[in-house]
Amino acid sequence: MAASDKMLENNEKDLNDGHVVHYSYYVRNLNTIQRLPYKRRFTTKCQVLSTSWRFKMLFQQVPGADTVSCSITLRRTDGVKIPVMASMSVSLSRATHGSPFFSEEFEKNGILPGEEIQESIAEVIPTEHMRTTFYKKIDIAVIIIIRNCHSMIKTDLERNLRAQKKRMMISNI
Ligand SMILES: [Zn+2]
Repeated sequence: MAASDKMLENNEKDLNDGHVVHYSYYVRNLNTIQRLPYKRRFTTKCQVLSTSWRFKMLFQQVPGADTVSCSITLRRTDGVKIPVMASMSVSLSRATHGSPFFSEEFEKNGILPGEEIQESIAEVIPTEHMRTTFYKKIDIAVIIIIRNCHSMIKTDLERNLRAQKKRMMISNI
């Protein structure tokens, strides 16, 4: 992380069918920064198929234009050749005003090791807004969801539930 940004939150949560990784941080004076990379690595704590990922987000001044572009990459780095699904959503909001002025979501199914989601956004901050003081501090929130890794657990769970129901029915007879 560059000196100009600050981590606010970093947490992971398990879902019935996947894992959520949440990062949020803020940057100051994004309009004066030439190049601002943000990198994170994480491994899901999955009991069936634990996968590793590298997330990269890069804000960059567009040469000759008074605006900032953003490129986002989520790359799978483990070696287990079983495909999973990944989605990432990125939103930018003014720190003093909650609602995002920019928000995008990207999703890809069947990601194998070495594959990635790569997206570029030409302009994240409209030019007229860059000069206002409102945008001096910007909150950035990233939510990454990995799915289809432990559907086996769900199937087992369903099987167990069915067996339990059957036992209940038998005991009721
Ligand atoms: Zn999992």
